[in-house]
Amino acid sequence: MCKKQGRLRRLPEIECLFPSTVQEALSMLEKHNGSARVISGGTDIINKLKRRDLTAHYIIDLKAIAGLNFIRNDPEGLRIGAVTTLNDILESPLVCELYPIITDALSVLASPQIRNTATMVGNLCNAVPSADSAPPLIALQAKLKVINLEKERMVSVEDFFTGPGATVLAPGELVTEILIPSPPAPGAGTYLKHQLRAEMDLAMVGVGVYLALDAKKSVCKDARIVLGAVAPVPMRARKAEDILKGKVLDNNLIETAARIASEESKPIDDIRSSAEYRKTIVGVLTKRAIRQCLDRA
Ligand SMILES: Cc1cc2nc3c(=O)[nH]c(=O)nc-3n(C[C@H](O)[C@H](O)[C@H](O)COP(=O)(O)OP(=O)(O)OC[C@H]3O[C@@H](n4cnc5c(N)ncnc54)[C@H](O)[C@@H]3O)c2cc1C
Repeated sequence: MCKKQGRLRRLPEIECLFPSTVQEALSMLEKHNGSARVISGGTDIINKLKRRDLTAHYIIDLKAIAGLNFIRNDPEGLRIGAVTTLNDILESPLVCELYPIITDALSVLASPQIRNTATMVGNLCNAVPSADSAPPLIALQAKLKVINLEKERMVSVEDFFTGPGATVLAPGELVTEILIPSPPAPGAGTYLKHQLRAEMDLAMVGVGVYLALDAKKSVCKDARIVLGAVAPVPMRARKAEDILKGKVLDNNLIETAARIASEESKPIDDIRSSAEYRKTIVGVLTKRAIRQCLDRA
């Protein structure tokens, strides 16, 4: 059942630090180990501090680090900086043209006001099972650059989450960018979200699908089906994916994959929905998303 949220109170006294480089931010994190929190857009963390769900003596605000605000394409794929806002990503012609599955997700995430300050990296680091940016990024096999004072490593978004609100990030580590590999062509992806209210609501179920097709666009060479809000972390529906691979996607096959994805999901009953209803919606959205991918391709 839903966790009761504490009431919003005035922020306690917190010192805000504004590093201008990643190195400076990492040094601050090390110096204030355990008593500092990193902030990008602040749309998640400020409410947690106000509710006293979290405590901090220092906030390290990454927004002033100019080197973390970018969207660029290179031979490895598309790179998005950690402080790039959701609206900047949404309005990027590169993203719109190459990765419409991301545009699908960000256009139904919160409101324009929130998206003007919130970031995609913050959405991932907050690690709620309903985070709208997670299923598309997993479907696209995106990775995160994670850095501390000694070294950097790449972590796939799929392996990033360890539970509700928890990630593989160790103390002293920051995420500096998202790398989205160029998807194989021909192919297409789609993200669909079911929510209680028409806007400004967290996903009851989110489904991201990416299909890679053969040159004639008739046989499915690879499929990734990612479900949000139906397990402690965003999850792949691998059995449903396997049903599609190497086959011509007719209606029977799509129905079967959708049913299997629904069976694979592991939702709970909570304030937004019963588990049973969520399972039904997984089937409906998976079917629609596969068809939409085929239309797009
Ligand atoms: C009214 C409202 C509606 C919303 N609707 C939705 C919705 O529909 N769908 C949805 O998915 N979310 C929704 N959200 C949640 C929120 O807006 C997103 O999760 C947002 O993308 C978080 O980004 P941020 O930059 O504000 O993160 P912040 O609040 O700055 O940070 C979030 C967490 O990530 C950590 N963090 C931030 N940056 C880094 C970094 N570079 N390295 C390491 N850790 C970091 C912070 O320490 C914190 O723990 C909503 C929020 C509000 C207030």
